[in-house]
Amino acid sequence: MASEKEAALSATPSDAPTIFDKIISKEIPSTVVYEDDKVLAFRDITPQGPVHILLIPKVRDGLTGLSKAEVRHIDILGRLLYTAKLVAKQEGLDEGFRIVINDGPQGCQSVYHIHVHLIGGRQMNWPPG
Ligand code: 5GP
Repeated sequence: MASEKEAALSATPSDAPTIFDKIISKEIPSTVVYEDDKVLAFRDITPQGPVHILLIPKVRDGLTGLSKAEVRHIDILGRLLYTAKLVAKQEGLDEGFRIVINDGPQGCQSVYHIHVHLIGGRQMNWPPG
């Protein structure tokens, strides 16, 4: 399997449907840890820590990545972060966690449907790679 960096560099930033659409429609199985009418949270298939969850808006609405955010997206962006905090609590990440939003090729984004990574359960390092 290609590394995350290789996957990001070969991904074409676009509005085309992504694998996350199939996860939302349940066409592709995933381990869902939280769901409401706006947000879906599921475990990453290649976890970078004991806990690694992706939070996505159920409707992309042009938000392929954070760099495409417009004023109309403020509510969903806040909701994604607030939900990440709820899920962190649900996962027992009381000692802390890491939130990541990769954007574009240099940011190592491979799926063009905005998503928040919630990673925890181990000591993080800084600076990130
Ligand atoms: P990005 O690199 O775009 O920030 O993150 C995309 C994430 O989606 C990666 O961490 C990758 O492991 C995850 N991912 C890609 N395909 C699937 C899939 O089919 N199922 C799940 N659960 N995660 C996926």
